[in-house]
Amino acid sequence: MDQKEGLKNRGRTREDVEIRRKAAEGFTGADLSAISEYAIDPEMASKNIENMIGTVQIPLGYAGPVTIHGEYADGEFLVPLATTEGALVASISRGMSVISSSGGANTMVLRDAMTRAPVLRTEGIAHARKVMEWVSDNRDLIDDAVSGTTSHGRLDDIEFFPAGRDLHMRLSFETGDAMGMNMATIASEAVCKLIEENTGAVTVSVSGNMCSDKKPAAINMIRGRGKTVVAEAKIPRDIVESKLHTDAASIARTNTSKNLVGSSMAGTLGANAHAANMVAAFFIATGQDPAQTVAGSMALTYCEDDGGDLYISVRMPAVELGTVGGGTSLPCQREALAMIGCVGDGKARKLSEILAVTVLAGELSTLAAQAAGHLGRAHAALGR
Ligand code: NAP
Repeated sequence: MDQKEGLKNRGRTREDVEIRRKAAEGFTGADLSAISEYAIDPEMASKNIENMIGTVQIPLGYAGPVTIHGEYADGEFLVPLATTEGALVASISRGMSVISSSGGANTMVLRDAMTRAPVLRTEGIAHARKVMEWVSDNRDLIDDAVSGTTSHGRLDDIEFFPAGRDLHMRLSFETGDAMGMNMATIASEAVCKLIEENTGAVTVSVSGNMCSDKKPAAINMIRGRGKTVVAEAKIPRDIVESKLHTDAASIARTNTSKNLVGSSMAGTLGANAHAANMVAAFFIATGQDPAQTVAGSMALTYCEDDGGDLYISVRMPAVELGTVGGGTSLPCQREALAMIGCVGDGKARKLSEILAVTVLAGELSTLAAQAAGHLGRAHAALGR
């Protein structure tokens, strides 16, 4: 087989992967021997990757244990995190230790709905209104179209955003324990087909970007996407002083100046110190779609000096994750999910609560380090 033929090989066995890797080595001149060491069954991974030549390993550590009082996550958890940023896991662990010493964190899921927003072409504003009326009057037919594509998915809500001849429709789905993007997309295609057949509107795209997937978007911050999750903890004054080497007023002041004022002036979506760090490391470890760190990281961090104690909370409006589907059944990711009791059915909301507390811990530790002037020192000691 020549090099180009090897690159195109579509097989899914280890042998196929080997042939393709060798062809890639020949084509690029690079030694790919480390990439060739992996535990994944290529057949299983064929739903997750094309042209597989091996894997990239990312160091996995744990933070915690952390005490969580959630509606779905209740107990002590050792949280798996995959990252290459030195000092990150140590910092989150420090935050978790402080939270646990203070009695633990409360957390809850406020909303749970994955969105897909098709855009349809109409003749103009009068036709767009007729289409909207047809959709509203025929919700039963639309629900039937959705249930013809999925047994776990259910259409929750439809919002209309007409603009000229375009009619954007934001469809919100309950998606069980799946993150739900494939599920919602397939169901939305069936909905679009039904609308086309009955109204003369024509689908421009099943995704018209009002969804909005993998793009920083205010609509997700305000309306939510996936799971909207909150977490809070109250850290007594003596623990702030003994474990964080600062005081509640300094942390609250740092949060206001940095996360609220600074973020506001910079125009960030979300107002936090580094939520993306926790979200990305958690997503990679547990088989989530890493690109959805975009929305997951739009957290708002809230702090108050409560008579010398510290009250801290995070609000995460758009946590897009699941415990079935996507990369969650790959062997390493499944083991990581097992560490926190989040394998499979009935565990997605629990997973989102554990993530919210992990973000809370990371925010607490970093804000405290900055309030105490220790951030650079920790990175120099651990990350270089
Ligand atoms: P999926 O693996 O495509 O679908 C989930 C599957 O699990 C469905 O077949 C569902 O069956 C089944 N299922 C079994 N038990 C379930 C339970 N308890 N709850 C929910 N479903 C259950 O996963 P997905 O979450 O819809 O999509 C995730 C993938 O989409 C990721 O790989 C991500 O990278 C990718 N993605 C796709 C798009 C896109 O536009 N298509 C965008 C972003 C990301 P039923 O459907 O029959 O209920």
